[in-house]
Amino acid sequence: MPKPGNKKDVERSLGLITYVGAFIPNLSDKTLLLRELLKKETEWHWDERHDECLKVIKQCLSKPPVLRHYDLDLPITILVDANKSGLGACLMQKGMPVCYASKSLSKAEQRYAQIEKELYACVFACERCHAYIYGRTDVVIETDHKPLVSIIKKPIVDSPSRLQRMLLKLQRYTFKLVYKAGKHLFIADALSRAYEPEPALSVQVSSADYTQHDEVCAITRDMALSAATDVTDLQFIKLQKSLENDDELALLRKYIREGWPTNKHDVIDLVKPYWGYKENLSIAYGLVWKDQRIVVPKLLRKDLLKKIHVGHVGLQKCQLRARETIFWPGINNDLTNLISNCSICLTYRKNNQKEEMQPHEIPDRPWAKVGTDLFQIKGVDYLLLVDYYSKFFEMEKLQCTTSASIIETLKNIFSRQGIPNVVMSDCGPQF
Ligand SMILES: [Zn+2]
Repeated sequence: MPKPGNKKDVERSLGLITYVGAFIPNLSDKTLLLRELLKKETEWHWDERHDECLKVIKQCLSKPPVLRHYDLDLPITILVDANKSGLGACLMQKGMPVCYASKSLSKAEQRYAQIEKELYACVFACERCHAYIYGRTDVVIETDHKPLVSIIKKPIVDSPSRLQRMLLKLQRYTFKLVYKAGKHLFIADALSRAYEPEPALSVQVSSADYTQHDEVCAITRDMALSAATDVTDLQFIKLQKSLENDDELALLRKYIREGWPTNKHDVIDLVKPYWGYKENLSIAYGLVWKDQRIVVPKLLRKDLLKKIHVGHVGLQKCQLRARETIFWPGINNDLTNLISNCSICLTYRKNNQKEEMQPHEIPDRPWAKVGTDLFQIKGVDYLLLVDYYSKFFEMEKLQCTTSASIIETLKNIFSRQGIPNVVMSDCGPQF
């Protein structure tokens, strides 16, 4: 813990102590000097006496009765927290700390979005406390970042690409993630601000981590691109370029990086439409993503709508195309407007209306009910017979398609498979 540089630092140190204060004898005497320093009318002045006072407090925190031994039989709670440049974690049993951990974030990691930092804090805590928690099923992790709790419950592939790598790392551990208001996470918060400077070696490790993370992003991007027949590499560069001049996405990126306000009212109007998706947004490759879909800047939306509409495949198929690749708030409405006004799509739809599918009852044994039909390949006629229960099929080449020939062929098949109760056909002339 570095030396406090202002009243705020002292406040945090004291907050940390108060959390476990019940276990420290004569706490108020020990913190008297520091509390004096916090008073409004006191001018900031830090000297050896304060140093001494802080030292005593630190000692209290790092030995019994506050710091307790790990007990295999007690449930575990881990408090985690992340702030701008550091992570903190504290493993507790029975409300008393068993181990503390903190870490500074590398330059690259500091650029993570707030939610990414918070999840990273979970990964960091689990890996640091590996020996205590691996294989246990009664671990609770407490975070002050509400969206994390829902993200962690979703399938990994549905998460923003940046979080996927971290979620994969967490697969090794069994834990329950719960939300706790920030004011209850004193220790983790204080630790996340009180990291020691990283030794050079660990910095290298974390930058390697970052590369790995980029690889995951690259794979996701490639997957998205291959799904997106219309998004070529050229298009990708165009997207990146137009992003630079888009106020809306610039603001959106700022929110993703620095975290969203807790209240929707505090969000600037321009990006309010994104509020409902804020947990699914991430930044990778200079683009904003909603899950695996690229968030398209205003300037390019019209263009991409046109691309999606190529071939006049109708509203549903267009929506499907869009759902795999691109996104902006109201994209479905824009598509509906475009296509409901397109005469070609409308005619196509009318010609293509199909009879509704009629579900049939599944028989209770194989070969009780079979369906049969005729078909032709390269001028040769065939008879097909499919069992409704197992989908097992029989196929026979036909010499001709007369009733006599069909009866003969069916008799052949029935002699091998048994006689069904019901035979369904489309009532062609032969049947
Ligand atoms: Zn059309």
